[in-house]
Amino acid sequence: MWGRALLLAPPMSFPAPLPNSGLRLRPDLPLCQTDLPLDWYQEELKPYAEEYLALPDRRPQTVLPWLDAYVRPAQEHFGESLLLLAHFYMGGEIVKLVERYGGSISDSYALALQAARQPEKKIIVESAVHFMAESVAILAAADQQVWITNPKAGCTMEMLAKDHHVLPIAEQLVERYGSELTVVAYMNTSGRIKALAGRTGGAVCTSSNADRVLAWARRDGQKVLFVPDQHLGRNAAARLGMDPARWLVMPDPQVFAGNYPIAKVDGGLAALDDAELLLWGSHCGVHSFFRPEHVTWWQERDWRVLVHPESPLEVVQAADGAGSTAYLWREVMEAPQGARLVIGTEGHFVTNAREQAAARGVQVMHLADIPEQELALAGCGCATMSRNDPPHLAGILDLLRQGKAPQANRVLAGDAVDEVTGELDRLPEAERATLVSEASLSLERMIAVVEGS
Ligand code: SF4
Repeated sequence: MWGRALLLAPPMSFPAPLPNSGLRLRPDLPLCQTDLPLDWYQEELKPYAEEYLALPDRRPQTVLPWLDAYVRPAQEHFGESLLLLAHFYMGGEIVKLVERYGGSISDSYALALQAARQPEKKIIVESAVHFMAESVAILAAADQQVWITNPKAGCTMEMLAKDHHVLPIAEQLVERYGSELTVVAYMNTSGRIKALAGRTGGAVCTSSNADRVLAWARRDGQKVLFVPDQHLGRNAAARLGMDPARWLVMPDPQVFAGNYPIAKVDGGLAALDDAELLLWGSHCGVHSFFRPEHVTWWQERDWRVLVHPESPLEVVQAADGAGSTAYLWREVMEAPQGARLVIGTEGHFVTNAREQAAARGVQVMHLADIPEQELALAGCGCATMSRNDPPHLAGILDLLRQGKAPQANRVLAGDAVDEVTGELDRLPEAERATLVSEASLSLERMIAVVEGS
């Protein structure tokens, strides 16, 4: 087991858990979250969904008493040992609801550290996507339980980099390149892929340190397989001045089926041998829609444009700044009165940032909010993350209090969930222990790289 002490002392170079966002429910406005169809709920959660769907409206004065009736008894039951978490990209008002009940909202890296930093928290309930809850579980102590309100909430980027996609290709690469191959796994991967990074001498990275981790991974001329986000990998490589002619994008995981012979990559084995950087072919279903024309449209109208580095390289290069969720939030919160900012990232995050900024006289728009048909974009919210809604929060907390929560919602390191069927593939205990050790190693290396830089 790796040095847990590294986690307990907040690493100086990483985004600390973000302070309370200060977001508040507006009593005059209904909850901003579309209802899910009843058949999208697990059997155990359907009674809560039926009650919620039968409420006369979605106004806070209607929803909150209903939610309180389940959440408050659970809070009393578990007391200080209960920790509620949510990611900034959560749709609707879940972030506000979680904060209202004393929970924390953060980006994925800061969320991952929550259990390790708060050993007194024994029941951790997260409203976010599965890999985020699994990252908490990897770093949790044996007496800390991690639960997700909806196990079918997956990250589309991670869904195209499952172990059954990545491992058969990684094995062929290791066979060909041996110890010269190093895997860098973005935080948005399952524990199984983080463990692959650990086994190959690689590390995890976040959107705020991908360039530093990539520079470190290339030590001694290593060939790097960057998983899963091709855009973040490209942006990091460009920042390091790496030669684009030696980047190679691996086959699109949406297209290939089963085992893919590496000799079939574009340019064949010669191209593979020559490449310094192998980019896994996945992307975020939200950020990859942005185009440079979106950026210039706003700049021509004197707006400052900031984007997340999961956006394509041309978008990042056109923007006035790029950085992690924590960076974007900070830029908005610290912008002077009168500033006009356009943010290219997940839509719910921008809505919340806009609300906070407006109180300080700062204007915030979403990169896709262009009133011209050919440039307008729809669907810039992380729809899969928003599968965690009020009935899921109420239901899981109530079922946990009763000792009846479904095991599918328990998150252990190494768990793989089918986001369509909800089917859970759980590793035997011995394999899980190995995975925790390898995945933790890859996280430890990231911290060492960033602490040392
Ligand atoms: S916004 Fe994109 S990368 Fe982030 S969780 Fe959603 S699908 Fe995944």
